[in-house]
Amino acid sequence: MYNKKDIVKKIALERIGILFDKAEITADADRARSKRYVSSLRKISSHYKVTIPKRMRDRICTKCEVVLVPGLNCSIRVVSSHRYVAYKCSACGGEAHVHY
Ligand SMILES: [Zn+2]
Repeated sequence: MYNKKDIVKKIALERIGILFDKAEITADADRARSKRYVSSLRKISSHYKVTIPKRMRDRICTKCEVVLVPGLNCSIRVVSSHRYVAYKCSACGGEAHVHY
């Protein structure tokens, strides 16, 4: 049996997922809207104290809050000497490092 807190967190996580999908779809066509989706999913995450899942967190530009879609608005580079993959945002030049 779930308690109320778990259900609220589950719904918050579900909404974060929906907003992330929408932000991903609009990342190319409408950047301003995509940024709004990302900022509202961040608000939901801090308000309900749920962490954004790693698969989503790694793909949000830390500088300009846009979802990084490979081939559309970011370039990917493998830095094998330091064992990470660098996602470079083409709009602001910010880099996200995903270690492996
Ligand atoms: Zn950026």
